[in-house]
Amino acid sequence: METLWTRTARLEVTSDPNLPEKVDVAVVGGGFTGMTAARELLNAGLSVAVLEAGKIGNGASGMNAGFVVPNFARADVAGVRAKLGQERGDALLRLVGDGANAVFRTIEEDGIDCDARQTGWLNPAYGNAAAEMLKARAAQWRELGRPVSFLDAAEVRAQTGMSIYSGALLDQEGGTIHPLDYLRGLAHGVQRRGGTVHEHHCVERVSSEHGNWRLVMRSGGSISARKVLVCTNAFTTGVASRMGRSAVPLKVYQIATTSADPSTVRRIAPDGRPVGDTRQNLFTYRLDRDNRLISGGMATVPLGAFARLGRSVATRLGEELDLPDAVSPEIVWSGTAAMTPDFLPRLYRFGDGWFGGIGCNGRGIAMTAQLGRVLARAALGESIDELPIPVRPLRPLPFHRFTPLVASAALLQARLKDRFVQ
Ligand SMILES: Cc1cc2nc3c(=O)[nH]c(=O)nc-3n(C[C@H](O)[C@H](O)[C@H](O)COP(=O)(O)OP(=O)(O)OC[C@H]3O[C@@H](n4cnc5c(N)ncnc54)[C@H](O)[C@@H]3O)c2cc1C
Repeated sequence: METLWTRTARLEVTSDPNLPEKVDVAVVGGGFTGMTAARELLNAGLSVAVLEAGKIGNGASGMNAGFVVPNFARADVAGVRAKLGQERGDALLRLVGDGANAVFRTIEEDGIDCDARQTGWLNPAYGNAAAEMLKARAAQWRELGRPVSFLDAAEVRAQTGMSIYSGALLDQEGGTIHPLDYLRGLAHGVQRRGGTVHEHHCVERVSSEHGNWRLVMRSGGSISARKVLVCTNAFTTGVASRMGRSAVPLKVYQIATTSADPSTVRRIAPDGRPVGDTRQNLFTYRLDRDNRLISGGMATVPLGAFARLGRSVATRLGEELDLPDAVSPEIVWSGTAAMTPDFLPRLYRFGDGWFGGIGCNGRGIAMTAQLGRVLARAALGESIDELPIPVRPLRPLPFHRFTPLVASAALLQARLKDRFVQ
């Protein structure tokens, strides 16, 4: 699918043609999670092959909007502690809180040319109750040593040009990237470290063989590995099936407009900060390097959604940001995000040395930088009880195929709720 990112990418990936016979670790899935895990394992001196069913960028890592946000979309500090207990909760919070730094550090270490800007991320509050909630949330993150502050309504207006907000959380470590160039840069890093990257290698099944694992490709061919990491997010093809069915697949549409004029840019993003508000029907925007506005949304009815969503997201951008000219989408694309039932990331153990990880819940760029590292630690033999992301029993969601319908109903309800916010 053509996206803003395929149109504007500066980096390319060359797939390695020949599968090695045997590696220490086979990584299934060439998105951010798989590439980050592979990079870590190669740094630790192991041999690694990344097996990707399509092209690199085929999944959410190539389709997302490029907001780097080091927190949870639907959980906060208190909620995580209540769910996991203080000690395990704090371990996960510290990990997630350092997620954006992990992304920008990797970009710097590997010299990845991906429009990386660590400008901070703005989370404006729609309504007084949301402002109080964000004030408390900012204080909780500060207690954990993170640079998160609360801005008042006037400060948000100065940052966005919008006067509908009652305040905002500002996370200084957030920012933006060109996601496809980041992903392709990660792939280069894997290859530079001696790992191999194989496009069009869909792993159909994994079976045990003399103490190792044998991964069989859909197209024929196979590879033997001591350890296997499944990094396939919302996908349900081949070996991805069991993990993919444990999360709700959410189709998200993105648009990019033509370039905004310099005075609009100064008014809506004077410091270049990406914005995502607290409404149930989320309003988000950021600029790319050419000052195109990027925003997104979800459709309640899939039929004709590309054209309809493109128009409605563009109209919303124009109205919310009070743009001087009519806005039209230059390009519309979509991808599938994975939501776990508790909105937290999780690991699965499929067998001895065979792990999977999922659950980036719309905050996947920062989260995958950590999820990939934690999966690498599992493959390196660290006790899974010590890892900061919890290991869960694998439970495919009942009626998985129909869960997007539930999500559509929830979206309709959310739009109604926003109308009654004070
Ligand atoms: C439209 C959209 C916008 C988003 N915006 C943001 C954002 O602005 N900020 C943010 O933080 N997060 C965002 N997200 C979420 C984020 O993109 C994801 O959480 C993240 O990219 C997940 O990375 P991943 O590596 O786990 O999975 P993916 O990138 O989905 O990679 C999984 C890979 O596994 C491959 N695969 C599947 N099955 C097999 C198999 N059997 N064999 C081999 N390979 C297989 C797939 O082809 C795919 O390439 C967005 C998501 C979407 C869809």
